[in-house]
Amino acid sequence: MIKAVVGANWGDEGKGKITDMLADRADVVIRFQGGANAGHTIVNEYGKFALHTLPSGVFHPHIMNIIGNGVALNIPLLFSEIDAIVSKGVPQPQIMVSDRCQIVMPYHILFDQCEEERLGKASFGSTKSGIAPFYSDKYAKTGFQVSELFMSEKQLREKIARVCVQKDILLQHLYHRDPIDQDALYETLCDYRDKVAPYTGNVSAYLGEAMKEGKEILLEGQLGTMKDPDHGIYPMVTSSSTLAAYGAIGAGIPPYAIEQIVVVNKAYSSAVGAGEFTSEIFGDEAEELRRRGGDGGEYGATTGRPRRVGWYDCVASRYGCRLQGATDVAFTVLDVLGYLDEIPVCVAYEIDGERTEEFPVTRDLARAVPVYEKLPGWKCDIRGIRTYEELPENCRRYIEFIEQKIGFPITMVSNGPGRQDIIYRESPLKQK
Ligand code: GDP
Repeated sequence: MIKAVVGANWGDEGKGKITDMLADRADVVIRFQGGANAGHTIVNEYGKFALHTLPSGVFHPHIMNIIGNGVALNIPLLFSEIDAIVSKGVPQPQIMVSDRCQIVMPYHILFDQCEEERLGKASFGSTKSGIAPFYSDKYAKTGFQVSELFMSEKQLREKIARVCVQKDILLQHLYHRDPIDQDALYETLCDYRDKVAPYTGNVSAYLGEAMKEGKEILLEGQLGTMKDPDHGIYPMVTSSSTLAAYGAIGAGIPPYAIEQIVVVNKAYSSAVGAGEFTSEIFGDEAEELRRRGGDGGEYGATTGRPRRVGWYDCVASRYGCRLQGATDVAFTVLDVLGYLDEIPVCVAYEIDGERTEEFPVTRDLARAVPVYEKLPGWKCDIRGIRTYEELPENCRRYIEFIEQKIGFPITMVSNGPGRQDIIYRESPLKQK
């Protein structure tokens, strides 16, 4: 069976924790999009880890962890992450890298930095991991596939020279930088090749066999629906699709093979980087939620920068779940809200005086004003609770109100960062 774990919103919903939890039963965990520009935080018996490139199955020695063809692969980071977890006592994980995966080149990172500097105040708030230049090159057909690292020296040097013609013009004339040192780049690619060679494989063939054998395969998404280049808040999006549907492409499996889509949805909102965020809050109210949020505050796993925070947004979440095709919603970080007397929930937007519950295109979203309903808080710590019935009544009301608003079944409730902090729930929407 193939399952996907993806985000409903802007990312940082707790996908790492849910994947880590579901990974217990998986044979294969696969990353199918994105790069090291976002991070999953996982807390388990080995400690607390921020993974940027590695699939979340790396803590389970029986799992094959795959970097799919859809990923932006930063080879030095992949290996430094493996070293970092192994040095904390995690057994050497099983890793496979798709031979069709493309490589983040050192100049992608440089271009990302140069472009953000050039844009100044109008920048995208990029993590400067090279992701946008990487995907631009992939679709402009000037990227380097892992398989190309194994070309002859002549072929590889020729391709480097061809690509550098264009890169050097931009570097010198737009960004006033030195041209690329082609010999150094060739040496870097040889080093990448030697490092990645033992892990390289034909992932779609491997997955085809795994499916025949009935193995449990988990597709692990990064970021969330709002960051999808087609369906998100363009242009403040990421450069690869964040939707479960893309799992088929970024892993190399048939779309109908994805049977369960677990959409991770946070009990309040948070976002990193620039872009529209209708239910965002500011000032002391925001500072308190940020400080109490997540596990040790709402600060980016990759950059450490403070995340923007806001109340739960039913409009964005319903849309996010619909685009992902949620068969199950994992409702996370609910424990954090236990300090509030009343909890505002954004139930609709008003755009030019008109109420809507449908998520609009970015141009209209910029004028959207949140319409809030307030729900009573539960004023206690719900961590440690293991059954739905034991949750305080107002807490259950909050969950059921949101489930009814989004129209997708909340079958998991996460009430703490640890693997065991999960409550399974029978949803009336699932039984229909
Ligand atoms: P991801 O990118 O979707 O995996 O999200 P992150 O890992 O960046 O952010 C989620 C944060 O919330 C991490 O620090 C998690 O450890 C933490 N977290 C996940 N689920 C829960 C939960 O139910 N309660 C609390 N308090 N923290 C959680």
